[in-house]
Amino acid sequence: MAGEEIIRIMCPNLGCQRVLAVPSSARGKLVRCRGCGSNIRIPANRPSASDGPAAANPAKPATPAQHKPAA
Ligand SMILES: [Zn+2]
Repeated sequence: MAGEEIIRIMCPNLGCQRVLAVPSSARGKLVRCRGCGSNIRIPANRPSASDGPAAANPAKPATPAQHKPAA
């Protein structure tokens, strides 16, 4: 069952930072923060928690450790 997914996004307003729960159908749209009333854009891509350091590395071929002779 691929039902609606709930996306949690934090309000970017530093004075608010309220966590909003919006349905996945709101991706790419603007929702209004109920805390401060500012519009927040829901990212269209899925916010994955595992999207960490690996994202910093572009598609790079895995190079084996090269043993360089000390000069
Ligand atoms: Zn807010």
